[in-house]
Amino acid sequence: MHAGDYADQNRGARVPPITLSAGYVFDSFDDGVARFAGESQEPIYSRQGNPTNAVAEQRIASLEGGTAAVVVSSGQAAITAALLALAESGEHIVSTASIYGGTRILFGRSFRRFGVSVDYVWNIDDDAEWEQAIRPETKAIYTETIPNPRNDVVDIARIAEVARRHGIPLVVDNTVATPYLLRPFEHGADIVVHSSTKFLSGHGAGVSGAIVDGGRFDWAATSRRYPLLTDPPRPGAGSYLDRFGPTAYAQYVREAVVNDIGPSLSPFNGFLLHQGIETLSLRMDRHVENSLAIARWLTEQPEVVGVDYAGLPENPLHELAQRHYGGRTGSVFAFTVAGGIEGARAFSDGLSVFSRMTGIGDTRSMVLHPLTTTHASFPAELNARLGITPGMLRLSVGIESLDDLLADLRRGLDRVARLA
Ligand SMILES: *Cc1c(COP(=O)(O)O)cnc(C)c1O
Repeated sequence: MHAGDYADQNRGARVPPITLSAGYVFDSFDDGVARFAGESQEPIYSRQGNPTNAVAEQRIASLEGGTAAVVVSSGQAAITAALLALAESGEHIVSTASIYGGTRILFGRSFRRFGVSVDYVWNIDDDAEWEQAIRPETKAIYTETIPNPRNDVVDIARIAEVARRHGIPLVVDNTVATPYLLRPFEHGADIVVHSSTKFLSGHGAGVSGAIVDGGRFDWAATSRRYPLLTDPPRPGAGSYLDRFGPTAYAQYVREAVVNDIGPSLSPFNGFLLHQGIETLSLRMDRHVENSLAIARWLTEQPEVVGVDYAGLPENPLHELAQRHYGGRTGSVFAFTVAGGIEGARAFSDGLSVFSRMTGIGDTRSMVLHPLTTTHASFPAELNARLGITPGMLRLSVGIESLDDLLADLRRGLDRVARLA
């Protein structure tokens, strides 16, 4: 709540004001020179920094335990900026296979056009698969803490070990876990990204994203692997690493990627984000309590053929879920109804408290049929391999009263029962 906080100096307003200004006045000719030379941290232009967004950046860096954060206009922009600061045309990224559908589409479409290729590892415990995937030009390893829709939690420390062995930074999308449930830097991650549209903002009102620098990766360890950070950007200038040390990566992302490409965050959405963060812990407790109760309840319903919630004792990932999350593996998970796609349609249309929509991490509960929406553009074999089946539904459980949510789910399942 207090990180980055400041009171308005003019009138003493307790909540930091929304600074809706594209640019900032230089105090003098020399002050302008100093800002452009990077000798002053005062903002220049809101594409590169904004005081309202800076509050959100300091809060997110503090929550994650990173050295600095950069907020951008969406989660997709955060992933793009984070990875384009590491890999360029002709280079390569290795990702775990179970990731957000939009990220898989980003890698397969836009990254492919930029000349950055991505290969996937399916079994993260299989060393041979990692060794086969990683090449001399691999510049980043990418994963998520709690992938959706299947709640198949990832052992970050296990992947961090592979990354460290090869001198490659590990980038972790921590959107679904949030730093309240797990802090990837404590498990060896080097960079964290967020769709802060989701739980960090929390109310489903504004799109935003964040990149967080862990500050510990040794960019200079392997010669010329990360010249963008270790070499002078122009003759006579110091490298980002020399100038900024533990925040070199974040500075590069801000000045050389976000400022060039321009996915800057509106300060209005920055305000929604830093205010949302103030209640993150309270909301997450309620999200997880509701989810655990619903996941357990679903396993007992005759119309349900399976529940993917790692926190449940019968889940194959339960041991890891217990060790890293105390069984509290977030509030985004899938379950499968009887009757395949017809069962899914009947269930979905029977709901009135849960909203039929894409998106997660809202205070309100939501339901989605991945196969016909987020995963509709993937080949059937890929969806089969990812475990996306016709009867599978994804829930993002909100903070409403549990009784209302259970009654709504029961109404949906009654429709499934009537099909049989
Ligand atoms: C939503 C989401 C994204 C994309 O974020 P946007 O803010 O929608 O651009 C990326 N990763 C995960 C895990 C997400 O849930």
